Amino acid sequence: MSTATTEITPILQSFLSSSRKILIDGKWDDALSEQTFPTFNPATGDVLCQVPDGQKEDIDRAVKAARHAFEHGPWQTLTPSERGKLLWKLADLMEQRTEEFAQLDSLDNGKPVTLARGGDVPMAIDFIRYMAGWSTKIEGTTIPLSVPYAPGAQFHAYTLREPIGVVGQIIPWNFPLLMAAWKIGPALAVGCTVVLKPAEQTPLSALMLGELACEAGFPDGVLNIVTGFGETAGAALAAHPDVDKVAFTGSTEVGRSIVHAAAGNLKKVTLELGGKSPCVVLPDADLTSAIPGVANAIFFNQGECCSAGSRLYVEKKIFDRVVAGVADQAKQIRLGPGMETTTDMGPLVSDEQQQRVLGYVESGMNEGAQTVVGGNRYGDRGYFVEPTVLVNTTQHMKVVQEEIFGPVVCAEPFTDLEEALGKANDSMYGLAASVWTRDVSQAHRLAARLRAGLVWINCHNIMDAALPFGGYKQSGWGREMANEAIDLYTEVKAVCAQL
Ligand code: NAP
Ligand code: MG
Repeated sequence: MSTATTEITPILQSFLSSSRKILIDGKWDDALSEQTFPTFNPATGDVLCQVPDGQKEDIDRAVKAARHAFEHGPWQTLTPSERGKLLWKLADLMEQRTEEFAQLDSLDNGKPVTLARGGDVPMAIDFIRYMAGWSTKIEGTTIPLSVPYAPGAQFHAYTLREPIGVVGQIIPWNFPLLMAAWKIGPALAVGCTVVLKPAEQTPLSALMLGELACEAGFPDGVLNIVTGFGETAGAALAAHPDVDKVAFTGSTEVGRSIVHAAAGNLKKVTLELGGKSPCVVLPDADLTSAIPGVANAIFFNQGECCSAGSRLYVEKKIFDRVVAGVADQAKQIRLGPGMETTTDMGPLVSDEQQQRVLGYVESGMNEGAQTVVGGNRYGDRGYFVEPTVLVNTTQHMKVVQEEIFGPVVCAEPFTDLEEALGKANDSMYGLAASVWTRDVSQAHRLAARLRAGLVWINCHNIMDAALPFGGYKQSGWGREMANEAIDLYTEVKAVCAQL
């Protein structure tokens, strides 16, 4: 197949060549320090463009604008239906920009443009529409009371679900547009106001999203977007005394520091953290779909996916066959710049991430693991890592316990279900898991016993706006998506009237 490079659209060319600003109170501005930092194309290491280096004082301005919009702006007086319409309008504008968003996330993150075009962008749009629908469906309940010390008295009691207030949102670089959508969607649907900090590696699609939010007509200050570094802008947002909730997606280590920072004003916290998700393949599995399924579970999005199937547990009689099959899939993956139409897997997001992932492979080898395929850097330009299958791993190894966040899977055999379950649950993480079997009863019994927030049966990485997503154990607090996310952006107020 001949390789062709996707041509950057004129709209995107002009976006990339004009200077990028941060969005505060409906206006585009520089950081007060006037400092900027570069964002790179990880396929080449070249600078894509400069973005403002937002600092504490910029976060302060953004929080002030969000507070004002929450308490005094027109946002307060919009009906739920009007909020929903704004979100729906935003989704329509995003749809018109599908190609630009796909190219932008490919250039900034490295992922194949085909993946962004078919996955990230349509999912982000669908998610915003799903949340638009929730705007008009946020309801309380009526509550019959039986107050023992007020015999004969009558009460009318009910609950209201109210927006939490000003929300700080901090997102990672693996699905730049989609993570922004997952965060702003429920917050805006319920009537919160937002300060969003995208990841330093991939700040651009959030800024384009901000342009469309302005075009859609969100009132000033409702959505503020400040680019900057985690240690400065992110930390200031997490610690800010006038922020009512912080929602974070990223590493467990930083998640822990968010919790500490949030303690000052005891703001609400939701966390979507790392994972080390097991794929459990039972002897009766349909291997024609299980082999490509578990391969895709890890290699999808360069393995930079919090729910990546990074631990593969296979019943010992079929172990060699499954491992050979997954290795064969790995060999067929075409690595290349995300903007090339034939690319299946792009580079990792950064030099640092490439080093991290290769460092993990090396540590696995030092502890006695072996590579069936991969294990090396690919090419001499950009941050590529070969799809890698490790065997001879044991549960205590770093490669089995820690999140690698790259295209590396550890495969281990098991002899019976109890052993499989024991290994699968032997992790500080509990984000997701998948089970591969034709036995329906067995599948559901296992689903009940796996300690994970999302269990897939004969599939992996299936996401939907209506499917709650989030972690058990150290994979997080709370859930994204579905009504669960709506609940976590609202406070419940009980009202009690004596009649
Ligand atoms: P990270 O440090 O957790 O970054 C996630 C977000 O948090 C970014 O916006 C980051 O800002 C910000 N941040 C960093 N330090 C902060 C602090 N002290 N206070 C507030 N915000 C802060 O993740 P990473 O360094 O990009 O990646 C490291 C590892 O995290 C990966 O290898 C992977 O294991 C894991 N990870 C998990 C997910 C997930 O979806 N669960 C996503 C990405 C990464 P800057 O990037 O601008 O510094
Ligand atoms: Mg970049």
